[in-house]
Amino acid sequence: GKAHVIGLTGVPGSGKSTLVHAMAKQFRADGRTVGIVAVDPSSPYSGGAILGDRVRMSDLAMDTGVFIRSLATRGALGGLARAALDTVDILDAAGFDVVLIETVGVGQDEVDIAGAAETVLVVSAPGLGDGIQAIKAGVLEIADIHVVSKCDKPDASRTVADLKSMLHLGSTARNHHGWEVPVLRTSAETRLGIDELVASLDAHLAHLIETGEREVRRRSILETRIIKTAEDLLRQRIGQGDDLSKVVGNALQGDMSPRQAAEALLKTL
Ligand code: GDP
Repeated sequence: GKAHVIGLTGVPGSGKSTLVHAMAKQFRADGRTVGIVAVDPSSPYSGGAILGDRVRMSDLAMDTGVFIRSLATRGALGGLARAALDTVDILDAAGFDVVLIETVGVGQDEVDIAGAAETVLVVSAPGLGDGIQAIKAGVLEIADIHVVSKCDKPDASRTVADLKSMLHLGSTARNHHGWEVPVLRTSAETRLGIDELVASLDAHLAHLIETGEREVRRRSILETRIIKTAEDLLRQRIGQGDDLSKVVGNALQGDMSPRQAAEALLKTL
């Protein structure tokens, strides 16, 4: 595969799905094919969002240059990151030019998934009460590009200003590899800034390639995935057989400390 893998995250209601839709349309207008992985938490935050996404995305779903896959998180936490990133691999192998992963920035798993992309977009929106939602969601630092959506709304300038001043206070204005993190304004309603956003994504990819950072990122993303998968596999194996109940018994008797029991358990694997 050769896909540019783009992660997109932001709090519920920040306009992610609408933005993904607008970006996908723009990529298609450029003749690029787009795979979309929408990780939906199926939580009280966004009940029914999968259906909403389907309706909103339905004109894209008719386009053979677009493939959309929703993954629900309910009951799948832990395995979710693996499932989402495996889906990205398949779309990449299938030859899509761009793969977008959309996650709700509400849990570590979702943040991890977005962070496993080559370019990370963090979406904030005016009118959600808190000026800088990215901080609350713990995603300020992982952004390569900040997007303030819904800039057709009058209070958007305030959100942009808050975000910019936050970035200048921290060390995140420039990524460690010399990329200046832009704060872009978009409106999916008026299509303001969508061209610029796509241009900025392309510029970021070019920057990753030029600096050799693309290889560095790929390596570190793979390393994280392998470690996480190994952890999952280990956890499954720990629960199997009766070695676990044996060491629990020993610890209960006071013959072993929990740590000794854990070490004994690992030796049985
Ligand atoms: P998500 O939960 O982050 O995926 O957010 P959605 O894309 O579902 O958008 C949340 C709400 O904001 C919806 O009611 C959208 O119609 C609205 N919205 C999204 N983008 C814009 C925009 O550019 N301008 C305005 N005014 N509203 C928007």
